[in-house]
Amino acid sequence: MQNNRIFDLVVIGGGPSGMMCAGRAAELGKRALLIEKNKELGKKLSLTGGGRCNITNAEFDTRAFLANFPEAKEFLFSPFSKFSVKDTFEFFEKRGLPLVVEGRKRAFPKTQNANDVVAVMENYVKKNNVEIKAGMKVTDILKNEDGTFLIKTKSDENFIARKVALASGIGGEGVAILQKLGHTVKEPNPNLVPLTTDEKWVHALSGVSLSFMTIRFRQDEKNKLKKTGKILFTHFGISGPLVLNASFEVKKLLEKGPVAASIDMFPDTEENELDRRVWRLFEKNKNKILKNILPEMMEKSLAEQVLNLPGINLAAKEANAVTKEERKALVKKMKDLSFPITGTLGFEKAIIADGGVALTEVNFANMTSKIHPNLYLLGDVLDINRPSGGFSLQLCWTTGWMAGSDIGK
Ligand SMILES: Cc1cc2nc3c(=O)[nH]c(=O)nc-3n(C[C@H](O)[C@H](O)[C@H](O)COP(=O)(O)OP(=O)(O)OC[C@H]3O[C@@H](n4cnc5c(N)ncnc54)[C@H](O)[C@@H]3O)c2cc1C
Repeated sequence: MQNNRIFDLVVIGGGPSGMMCAGRAAELGKRALLIEKNKELGKKLSLTGGGRCNITNAEFDTRAFLANFPEAKEFLFSPFSKFSVKDTFEFFEKRGLPLVVEGRKRAFPKTQNANDVVAVMENYVKKNNVEIKAGMKVTDILKNEDGTFLIKTKSDENFIARKVALASGIGGEGVAILQKLGHTVKEPNPNLVPLTTDEKWVHALSGVSLSFMTIRFRQDEKNKLKKTGKILFTHFGISGPLVLNASFEVKKLLEKGPVAASIDMFPDTEENELDRRVWRLFEKNKNKILKNILPEMMEKSLAEQVLNLPGINLAAKEANAVTKEERKALVKKMKDLSFPITGTLGFEKAIIADGGVALTEVNFANMTSKIHPNLYLLGDVLDINRPSGGFSLQLCWTTGWMAGSDIGK
């Protein structure tokens, strides 16, 4: 053990939060070691935002930003008062990577390439002389009697750390290590995930997206949740930002019983008014079959699926042969296109998984563990629920920077 090298800080995990913490502490003069089990740093970061990296959310009002973290906002005021969304913009701009803002305030690097974000972070770490051990897996963290930590790895090399930052994300060895250190860790669960259905007509619409529609989730004939925005049909069910953001609540409903989704394709139009529009369309195209005229009101493939639904069956009928009852049933379907939700896609498809260290066990004034004051807990290790849209990575930049600054003091 005498040969174990001593560091002011050992960071476990070379993801966004770990790189930020290591780089910052080293920038302030600390001797830091960053251990990453993959061969490269920031592997997951390079895949974020479909390879474009939704780096933060450009809501510059901290109170409004934190409203997106319903259970954690009270805890997060302190860290965000030290490193906010504005600081993230400045951090990357200063390092040659300006950000651009897109819909829903999602911010991306101007280059539209997540690898550039990885490069900035890797550079930050290397420029400040952080020692990097990539391809090395940490297996345990043991507390020494003098208050330092022994970091054990799968290789023969072990290290002594005055301070440790656990930035290992969710799952993996981090959970067991934290539990051994006395922390309450909620096991990770899929959270922001697409929803599945067995309905073949939904699968057949794979690739179609609907903008500005409303989706309701029903249980026991009651509306439990309503969202308006864009959804995407997939070969297994539905996805897209709105669905992902509803998935946590839908998952909870599914635990209680069956759930049905109901899409209103014309949320701004009352049923009577929609009926008049459909009637006018039919009047204008009396001798045409519905399959050829309904696409005037909606995406062609969607029109086809709707017209072929059991109880509708109007695809091949001429407009002048459609009865009033049939037309009303069609209009009803356009306002209430429902199908059962069977579940959620698994953990591997989760954009974020909930779970992690209980927030009551963390000192948010500096991101340390309340059980071990020299242990820092960062990024996804924390049990914080949040929507998609750049909120997860902002959490990494803030907690990483805050911990690094505290260690560097
Ligand atoms: C497909 C996908 C797309 C996403 N897109 C976005 C997006 O656009 N915007 C956004 O805000 N969020 C996005 N997220 C979420 C975001 O990627 C995470 O919140 C973020 O990466 C968490 O960072 P972290 O530093 O806490 O952990 P991670 O990025 O998970 O990094 C942890 C690192 O620790 C290493 N590690 C783990 N255990 C050990 C060990 N025992 N020894 C050594 N090393 C270890 C891992 O290999 C890993 O590199 C996305 C997630 C996924 C899966």
